[in-house]
Amino acid sequence: KKEQLQLLASVESVTKDGYQMTLSSNISSVKELDMALKHGADGVGLFRTEFLYMDRVTFPSEEEQFEVYRQVTEMMGSRSVVIRTLDIGGDKHLDYFSLPEEDNPFLGYRAIRISLDRKELFKTQLRAILRASHYGKVKIMYPMISSVEEVRLANELLHESMSELDTRGIQYNHNIQVGIMIEVPAAVAIADLLAEETDFFSIGTNDLVQYVLAVDRMNEQIAHLYHPYHPAILRMLRSTVEAARNAGISVSVCGEMAGDERSIPLWIELGVHELSMSPQSLLRIKHRLLNTAAEEEKAVAKACYKLHTNTEIQKLLDDYHHSHR
Ligand code: PEP
Ligand code: MG
Repeated sequence: KKEQLQLLASVESVTKDGYQMTLSSNISSVKELDMALKHGADGVGLFRTEFLYMDRVTFPSEEEQFEVYRQVTEMMGSRSVVIRTLDIGGDKHLDYFSLPEEDNPFLGYRAIRISLDRKELFKTQLRAILRASHYGKVKIMYPMISSVEEVRLANELLHESMSELDTRGIQYNHNIQVGIMIEVPAAVAIADLLAEETDFFSIGTNDLVQYVLAVDRMNEQIAHLYHPYHPAILRMLRSTVEAARNAGISVSVCGEMAGDERSIPLWIELGVHELSMSPQSLLRIKHRLLNTAAEEEKAVAKACYKLHTNTEIQKLLDDYHHSHR
């Protein structure tokens, strides 16, 4: 079975009736990129850069970061690489950067909030990413965005970083695409406004589910309440994709749901054409896409939107998935 799946690595991901899906990989390291390439990733949809900052004693320098970003970019050739700026806080910590004790770390000093507070730290990373953009198709992505102001502030710092590189005479892609993660409910509610300020959306379902349902994604005691197929989530997915479509920007999905076969009807019915997932999931999802018809998937999703509970929706998607194997 594994060998058979491996044969699909170079096959284009398209349903029997012609619905194309770009299957990208989430990576945290060059080692994971090797696996992604082996499994035929069409791009890197989420480079989680926090791992560059972990297991060390100081923040990585611009030069150190640039080397890694450039390596990943060059390894991907003409395929795109979405580099997410630092997303520490919440469950991820750095030994050398002591964050205050917080009662609610997931509602606290985290991700873009840290970047906008620690501007030099942020600009160091932005310069490293910009420099890598000279070597391939790099895009920048901001995590945990909850307001238009945050996007504007981050972009101001991006422009400062660009000017600094200009002064140093260093090359980079001046038209680099800049997108945001949609993973906070407020971002879904103002997706139309955010879409005017950004080039793309990537839906981070891991955090989105946590924040929409008020269920800590790390707390095992309430893990049974963590419901990606809750009707509230389905509605949020729809309004995000519609806002992106109305504004003419692209939208992908990069949370764990993207690597779950049961979600495929939802993506196809919404008109999503890019999923980013762990390298281990790529071939499994591709296999499923090759063996289905978009029209059939859409009908299943339409039925989901008529149901009132997570239990019913999950059962419908489960049954449909099993009938497919
Ligand atoms: C997400 O929140 O869905 C996501 C992809 O980011 P992370 O899991 O790194 O928070
Ligand atoms: Mg997240």
